[in-house]
Amino acid sequence: MSFPSWLSQLYRGLSRPIRRTTQPIWGSLYRSLVQSSQRRNPEFSSFAVRTNTCGELRSSHLGQEVTLCGWIQYRRQNTFLVLRDFHGLVQVVIPQDESAASVRKILCEAPVESVVQVSGTVISRPAGQENPKMPTGEIEIKVKTAELLNACKKLPFEIKDFMKKTEALRLQYRYLDLRSFQMQYNLRLRSQMVMKMREYLCNLHGFVDIETPTLFKRTPGGAKEFLVPSREPGKFYSLPQSPQQFKQLLMVGGLDRYFQVARCYRDEGSRPDRQPEFTQIDIEMSFVDQTGIQSLIEGLLQYSWPNDKDPVVVPFPTVTFTEALATYGTDKPDTRFGMKIIDISDVFRNTEIGFLQDVLSKPHGTVKAICIPEGAKYLKRKDIESIRKFAADHFNQEILPVFLNANRNWNSPVASFIMESQRLELIRLMDTQEEDVVLLTAGEHNKACSLLGKLRLECADLLETRGMVLRDPTLFSFLWVVDFPLFLPKEENPRELESAHHPFTAPHPSDIHLLYTEPKKARSQHYDLVLNGNEIGGGSIRIHNAELQRYILATLLKEDVKMLSHLLQALDYGAPPHGGIALGLDRLICLVTGSPSIRDVIAFPKSFRGHDLMSNAPDSIPSEELKPYHIRVSWPTDSKAERAH
Ligand code: ASP
Repeated sequence: MSFPSWLSQLYRGLSRPIRRTTQPIWGSLYRSLVQSSQRRNPEFSSFAVRTNTCGELRSSHLGQEVTLCGWIQYRRQNTFLVLRDFHGLVQVVIPQDESAASVRKILCEAPVESVVQVSGTVISRPAGQENPKMPTGEIEIKVKTAELLNACKKLPFEIKDFMKKTEALRLQYRYLDLRSFQMQYNLRLRSQMVMKMREYLCNLHGFVDIETPTLFKRTPGGAKEFLVPSREPGKFYSLPQSPQQFKQLLMVGGLDRYFQVARCYRDEGSRPDRQPEFTQIDIEMSFVDQTGIQSLIEGLLQYSWPNDKDPVVVPFPTVTFTEALATYGTDKPDTRFGMKIIDISDVFRNTEIGFLQDVLSKPHGTVKAICIPEGAKYLKRKDIESIRKFAADHFNQEILPVFLNANRNWNSPVASFIMESQRLELIRLMDTQEEDVVLLTAGEHNKACSLLGKLRLECADLLETRGMVLRDPTLFSFLWVVDFPLFLPKEENPRELESAHHPFTAPHPSDIHLLYTEPKKARSQHYDLVLNGNEIGGGSIRIHNAELQRYILATLLKEDVKMLSHLLQALDYGAPPHGGIALGLDRLICLVTGSPSIRDVIAFPKSFRGHDLMSNAPDSIPSEELKPYHIRVSWPTDSKAERAH
C-alpha cells in the first residue's frame, strides 16, 4: 500500500453517519458529542505554519502557493529533493538560477532526514517525467524560499522500511523508528480504532469514560503486581493488574455503563510478546447477561474495524471450553484451518496393539489423531522425528505417524497391526485423502489433546514454510469460548483451587449447588474472545452477592478476605447484577495490522526483559533518595557490576 492511500482509507471511516440507537441521558451533551464525531476529513494543517501536507498535493492544486514542512527523504543530483511527512512524499525542484543561490545552498547541503520548510508554487512535472507510482507524481514544487528548521546528524540507521535493523537498535532510537511508514501506520490505525470504539460506546450506547486509580493496593490471586513505595514505613501501593475492583464498585455507585482505555500492569517477568504495562479496553455494565456483553463486543468490533479490511461478520461462533480442548487442544483455538483432533478410541477397542490396549483400559484413556493434509508431500522424515521427540520430551507421549501413500497403502510402524475394517473406519472418521499424514497418540484425554493441539499448530507452521497456504492472511477468525470451569487446580499445589478467570466471576447458574459439593466441577459465566488463535479479551458476569463472594474467597480459594473487605461491604449495599469484559488493545491492534510483535503497535514499548532501551529504565536510585521511603537495597552478591553501573 502506498503512503497516502492507507491514510485516506484510515480516515474515511470518520465521516460514517452515526446511527442513534439509544436514548441519550442528557440531550445537549449527546448532541455535541455526535456533532464533534461527525466532522468530515480532519484538517491536517490547521494551526500549523504549513499550508498543506506533503502527500496531499495533486494536479488539482496546480498554481497554488504552498508552504510545506517535512524531512528530506533523498536528493537527486542536487536538482530534486523529495520531502516526506506522515502523509506522503512530494518532489521539490531545487532552483538552479543565481538569484536563488541561498535557497539552493540550504536544499543541497542539508543532510538527509533534516527537517526543512519550503514555500513555492505547485507546478506540473514536465511531460514524460510524471511518476505514476507516486500519488503526488504529477506535480512538483517550484521553491521560492527554504528554511532549514533543524539539521540531522549521521543516523544510527536509515529511515527506510526495507532496511533491516535489530529490534534493540530500533528501541534504543525509538523516536527515529517511529518515522517509519509501518510505525506511523500502526499508531495512526490504533488511534482511529480507539476513537471509533469511544464513539460506539459513549455516543451510541451511553457508556461513561471513567479513569480509575493506578496507585492501588495488592489484590489477591492473579498476576504479580508492581510495588510502589510510599513514605509511610513498610507501606506500598500496588499498580493494578486491571481496574477490576474499581469497575465493579462503579456499578455499585450507579455508573451503570463504564468504559476506559485502561493501562494495566503485570510483573510477570520476561515473556515473549507480553509487556509489563499494557492497555485494555475495559468495560463493565449493570443489568446484563453473557449474551448482552457478547453482542456489545461484536458490535464494537464491527463498528471500529478498519475500512481497509474485510468487514467483521457477526455473531461470532461459540465453543465451550470442553469442546475447544477436545477439538483443538487449547482454550484459544485458531479456527482459520481444520486439522481438528478426532477421537478414534472406538476404532481400537479390540486392537491387538499392546500399548493402545493398555491406554484404553485406563480411566480417561483415549486414542486421538490429527490429519495433516498432504503431509506426505510436505513433511520430511526429519520433521516427523522432531515431532516425535517433542512429544516424548514435553508430554512423555508416543506419536505414531501414518503416511498415506498415493496407492493408499499405509506406511507406519503399526500398519501391519491395523485391520482392514479399522483402516476403513479411520479413513471415514478422519476424512483422509491420499498423501495425508495421520499423527496418532494414545493417553489421558486432556494430555493427548494438549499434545495434538500443539502439534496441530506446529505442523501448520511447517506446511506454510514449505509453501502450502493454510491460513488466509486476510482472514480474521473470531471465536467465543464459554463455559470455563470456575476453578482450576493451583499449579504449585494441585490440591488447592485457583480461579480460572478471577475470584469475582459468577458460577454458571446451573452449577451453583456444585460449589458446596464438588467445586472443581462447577462451570462459570466466564467468556473469552479469541482471534486467530490469540486470546484478545476475557470477562465474566460477576458475583453480586456478598455472601457468595465471601464463601468463594474464604472457603474455596483460602484468600484473606480482609484485603477485599471494601468490595464485600459494597456488595451488601444494593449492588446491581453486573458483568463486563476487557479487550487487550495491544494484541488486537497487532493482529489487525499483521505486526510480528505487540511492541510494533506501542509507541514506546519495553524490551523483552522489561527495559526501556531508550532511557534505560528501570534505573538505580542513590541510597539517599531511598531514605524517605524507608527502603534499603540488599544487593545480590553477583550484581556488583550492575551496582557499579
Ligand atoms: N479484569 C479482567 C482481566 O483483566 C477482565 C474482566 O473480567 O472484565 O482479565
